Parts: sequence; structure tokens; C-alpha cells
Amino acid sequence: MNKKLLVFAFSAVLAISTTGCSPRAFVLNTVMGTVDPYFHGDGIDGTKFEQLTDKVYTFQWNWYRNLIINTDEGLVVIDPMNAQMTSALKLELDKKFPGKKVHTLIYSHYHLDHTKGGAILRPLNVIAHEKSPTYWNAVEHDGVLAPTRYISGDTVLNIGGVEIRALYLGLSHTDTLYAFHIPSERLVFTADLGLVKTVAPDGVPDRYAPGYLAAMNRIISLDFDTFVPSHFGYGVKQDLVNWRDMMEQGRALAHAAIKDIGGPGVRENQMGKYFDAVYYPMRERYGQWHGFNEMFVLNLVRDIIGEALGD
Ligand SMILES: [Zn+2]
Repeated sequence: MNKKLLVFAFSAVLAISTTGCSPRAFVLNTVMGTVDPYFHGDGIDGTKFEQLTDKVYTFQWNWYRNLIINTDEGLVVIDPMNAQMTSALKLELDKKFPGKKVHTLIYSHYHLDHTKGGAILRPLNVIAHEKSPTYWNAVEHDGVLAPTRYISGDTVLNIGGVEIRALYLGLSHTDTLYAFHIPSERLVFTADLGLVKTVAPDGVPDRYAPGYLAAMNRIISLDFDTFVPSHFGYGVKQDLVNWRDMMEQGRALAHAAIKDIGGPGVRENQMGKYFDAVYYPMRERYGQWHGFNEMFVLNLVRDIIGEALGD
């Protein structure tokens, strides 16, 4: 383990045992305090409405980002996220497209942090994967505007003269996940699959790693220029290629570490050994990416457990 971290960990344990500092305070000040800067900072906090191509716009609300397509029949919005975000977006849409209705709202996948607040946009149609209600019904889901149409498998939507290809990604990040390819704009929008020069948050929750890799590879095989992920900044196709390579290097190093050191819990000080095996080679290639240190431990733990389980 990194010497500084080791010294820090020892002194923290000593501090807890000698001063009676509560474990809650310790965890809040260290682990949680370390993760927080991943989600905030210049260029992350606040809102921004931008035009990306002839017909496509993007709206950023804090670390979330969605997509707006301007068609002859009305606007198409992919992912409302939450009521605060759609309230802010509605003001922008009314200013930029006065009198123009939201023709269709599409949910990229069922996750509640992507599917709330849609009612504020007053969409005429709402589209989601057919399995979404199964998951919504298992939890409290107030604020999710009910779909008017369910889809499954790859689905081509032609709305107001714009072809939107909804690509079903199978079991990847849930089994309700779509990516959206708009060939006329040479653009792809993905939800929770790929970021631009930014490491994953918390190992990407709800990720089935083999399916997630297949999904990334499928999108990379498409012909497009502009890559818009649902969090942080947007970029170009090569950014998604780089992100896939980063995720796969993390998995490969975790896999090799398990082979060398053994599966989790079978020997002493395994976390320190896993850390050494993965941190330094990853830092060499991705140390400059946003959130590298902040998210490293959470991503490492996810990769180690995932590789041990085949998940
Ligand atoms: Zn999600």
C-alpha cells in the first residue's frame, strides 16, 4: 500500500482508539469527504443549454446532462432526470423554442435518477423499455411520469423528419438500457455508459461488466462523431473508446491481482496488495482524468468483487 495512505490509516485508527472520535465522524471526514469533489467543481455545478449540431441540443444540470432534439413535429427530450432539472430546462426551451411542444419524452432506462420530473415538460408521448414498470413497482417511484408507449429490442423512431435509432443494450446497466444514435447528426447519446476523460462513479452501480463491455463495443462499432454521455462533459467518439479501454484495464488488473493474491478474504492484507497491483498502472495512464483519486478505492473494490464473481 502507498506509504502515505498506510501512515494515514494507522494514525486514523490511533486517533479513534485514543481520542474516542466516532467512527461516523471518521468515515464522513475521510471516505465521504474524498468522494465529494468528484461531483462538484468548476464546469460541473450549475446549468448550461448548448446547441451541438443542426437539430440537437444538450442541457447540463450539475453533473447530469440530457439531450433535446428539435424536429418538425415538436421537441424530443431524452431523460428528464428530476423535477429541478426539468424546471430549469423548461425555461430554456420556452425561451429558445417559444410555443413548441415536447412531442416525445424518452427514458434511456428505468433508474429513478433519470426518470423523474417529466410531467413539467408536458410531453405528448412518453417512451420506455417494457420492463421498466417491473422495477418501478418494486420501489417508491413518485414523480415518474407513466409511459404512453413501451418498446423492446432495437427500435427506430421517426419523429418530425428525424430518425432516432434506439439501440437496446441488453443486460449491461440494468436490462432496460437504450443508447440513441441520430445518424443525420452523426451523434450518439448514452446513459451511464461512458464519460469523457472522467473515471467511473462508484464502479458504475448496477453494472453487469460482461454485458456492459458488449454494449460499449456495439456503440463503438457505429459511425458517428459526437459523443454525449448523461453525466459531465460531452466529446467525440474517441472519448468513448478511451473510456472503454480504461474500464477494461481496471478489470484486467483486478483479474490478474486475484490470480496472484487470491480471491477476496482468503489472506491477510489483501486490500493493500490489490491496491498496489492496480493503483500504479492505472494512475500512469488515467491519473489526470477527473475523479481518479477520489473514486479509486470504490472502483477498485467494485472491480475486485466483480472479477471474483464474474459480474
Ligand atoms: Zn442508471
